Amino acid sequence: MPKVITFHYTLEDQAGELIDTSRDGEPMPFLEGVRQIVPGLEDELVKMKIGDKKKVIVAPDKGYGPHHKQLVQKVPRKEMPEGDIAVGDQFQAGNGNDMIVVTVTEVTDQEVTLDGNHPLAGKDLYFDVEITGIREATAEEVSHGHAHGTGGHHHS
Ligand code: ZN
Repeated sequence: MPKVITFHYTLEDQAGELIDTSRDGEPMPFLEGVRQIVPGLEDELVKMKIGDKKKVIVAPDKGYGPHHKQLVQKVPRKEMPEGDIAVGDQFQAGNGNDMIVVTVTEVTDQEVTLDGNHPLAGKDLYFDVEITGIREATAEEVSHGHAHGTGGHHHS
């Protein structure tokens, strides 16, 4: 059976800005081997024991991939939905099976810049992690392809 590993993490960018953390809530569980988390982090976590702490730097090729310039486009303001549009807003764009999530990265009176990359694409990720639990996955978790339980996936 693969393992379910539970860990606390703090994620910062290269400048030391906090991007995300589990420290204000429950630690996060993931199912080993299904890429539930970015490869560069999983590769390190599976080598650790309960109680181990480590800083892990993940490059884009083992993180959220490179930043593709062709996924950035400027759209005339008048073609965007009415109302306030601010940097950081996200929209669904495209049609049918090609829907992607785009993030607003710049707004002027005339144009809105939309970026279809993952917000962390092209970035080095600075993780600070601590393993809080390791257990065998259940058959149900393996068949679902994700971890269940506190902080994990819940079914209604
Ligand atoms: Zn499930």
